[in-house]
Amino acid sequence: MAAFHHSASYTGRFAPSPSGPLHFGSLVTAVGSYLQARSQGGRWLVRIEDLDPPREKPGAALQIVRSLEAYALHWDGNILYQSRRISAYREAVFRLIEASHAYPCTCSRRDIETVAVLGPFGFIYPGSCRHDPARGSHHNAAIRVITHDHQIHFEDGNFGCVNQKLSSEVGDFVIKRRDGLYAYQLAVIVDDAHQGVTEVVRGADLFDSTSRQIHLQRLLDLPTPRYLHLPIVTDAKGDKLSKQTRAAPIRSDRPIPALIEALHFLNQDPPAALAYASLDEFWQWAIKHWSSRTLPKVLKIPFQNQYTA
Ligand code: GLU
Ligand code: ZN
Repeated sequence: MAAFHHSASYTGRFAPSPSGPLHFGSLVTAVGSYLQARSQGGRWLVRIEDLDPPREKPGAALQIVRSLEAYALHWDGNILYQSRRISAYREAVFRLIEASHAYPCTCSRRDIETVAVLGPFGFIYPGSCRHDPARGSHHNAAIRVITHDHQIHFEDGNFGCVNQKLSSEVGDFVIKRRDGLYAYQLAVIVDDAHQGVTEVVRGADLFDSTSRQIHLQRLLDLPTPRYLHLPIVTDAKGDKLSKQTRAAPIRSDRPIPALIEALHFLNQDPPAALAYASLDEFWQWAIKHWSSRTLPKVLKIPFQNQYTA
């Protein structure tokens, strides 16, 4: 493969959860983040988000890695596994509690649902345990981070200006679950900072999580990367293709057709002749012609082809 000349100023990443093999939707995310990084001479890292064992499928992480290899999505450095990062998450939660930015919460789902208001992203935690340290001992308690009234603002690379008031739209949210597992929102920002990620390119299903992540970065004095969200692939009903809905795994013996479909989905304009290209030629063309400006500015797109069937 070609050697890349890295600019020190860009580091991107692809961070799949190993709940199943790569499908067309996750391929689109991988391709978008890869091209955004390589077109700027940047580094591109892979992180396996194996943080939630009950939702993982044995062997899926290895399958994902093999697919990336088969598609010549070459990453830099070593793959980071979140399952090996628990002490870093523990330390971050400890720091937040020490600084009184976070508190234990022993409320059950039922407790919350009977008093809470339903917000755009689920029930807004009413703060029952926030001012009542006696209620939550640290054992068997979730840990929630305190949210504030001011707006979190960021510029998304695809969707533009975003403002979210966490206290009224989300409420104090969980960073460590009652079952002892660390929450995605916490782990993702600890690791993006640890890996020096300068821009997060990912599926728009996580668009609404970004303000929560920026809030945590500020409380922990971590830098905020740029964010760019790609539309997600849905089925005809509008449901996200996912490992849970058993979206077809991408095949590794013929990568070019799926890669061309991924470019079409991302509103790039591959010439018909690319169908006959080698993987090297494909990536050369795609890196050279990548344009994030032409990306579809919608959160999700139903897409029907042989890879999504
Ligand atoms: N692990 C997440 C997923 O597979 C992606 C996390 C991220 O890109 O921030 O949906
Ligand atoms: Zn509580």
